[in-house]
Amino acid sequence: MRKKIVAGNWKMNNNLEETEALLSELSAKLPNTHADVVVAPTYVNLATAQRNLQSSAIKVAAQNMHYAENGAYTGEISADMLLNIHVDTVILGHSERRSYFGEDDALLAKKVQTALDKNMTIIFCFGEELEERKSDNHFTVVESQLKNALFQLDGTAWENIVLAYEPVWAIGTGETATPEQAQEMHAFIRKTISEAYGDAIAEEVSILYGGSVKPTNAEDIFGKPDVDGGLIGGASLKADDFIAIIKAI
Ligand code: PEP
Repeated sequence: MRKKIVAGNWKMNNNLEETEALLSELSAKLPNTHADVVVAPTYVNLATAQRNLQSSAIKVAAQNMHYAENGAYTGEISADMLLNIHVDTVILGHSERRSYFGEDDALLAKKVQTALDKNMTIIFCFGEELEERKSDNHFTVVESQLKNALFQLDGTAWENIVLAYEPVWAIGTGETATPEQAQEMHAFIRKTISEAYGDAIAEEVSILYGGSVKPTNAEDIFGKPDVDGGLIGGASLKADDFIAIIKAI
C-alpha cells in the first residue's frame, strides 16, 4: 500500500545529548497520524536513537551506508552493522553525498542492491541542479538518475523503495519548488516507473518531496495527489516545526 511518510534528515547535526533531547520532545509531542514518521540521526547516535525510540512509533533510518559486506573501507558502515542495531531503513543518493562525496549512479546502484539483498527499506534521493532546471533538462536528468540506479531491479524490489525527489536548488536554500512544480515532477516520475514496470507498481511507490519544506508550505505541497510526504532537512531539527509538518500530512 502506498504510504504517507515524513522523514527527517538530521545530517551532521546534534551530539548525543541533543539527539536524546530532540527524540524525547518528538516522542512526547507526536500526534496521531496515518503517516510513517522517520528520523535519520548521525551514525554515532543511531544505536541510542533506536533504543530510545523502542516504544515510540518513530522509526530510525541511517543517512548512508557502504555497499560491501565488510572489510577495509575506513570510515564506512555496512548494512549488517545497521541491521545489528535494528536500523533497517537507509537514505541513499542524497545530493550532498552525490556532490561532496562523488557518489554517482553506478555506485548508488551497488548500494541499492546491497540494501535490497539485506531486505532493507531505501529512501532513494535524486533531483536536478539549478542549471539543469534553467536549461529545461530537469525531466531528462531525473529520468536518467532513476534509470541508471534503479531500473535494473525487478518489480518486487519496489516494495522496499521510497523515492525522494529533491531538486538540489531547493535543498537548504529556503527556496521551495512550488506545489505545482512538485506535482508535475512527481507525476512524471510515476509515469516513468509505470512505463518500465506497469501501473500497479507505479501507483504503490511513495514519492516524497524534499527541499525547504517548512510548516508554512507543507500542507500545500503534501496536498498534491502524487506527493506522498516529505524528506525534511533543516526543519526536522526543531521539534515544533517537524511536528507541525507531520500534522500537515
Ligand atoms: C534535505 O537535505 O534532504 C533537505 C530537504 O533539506 P532542507 O529541508 O533543509 O532543504
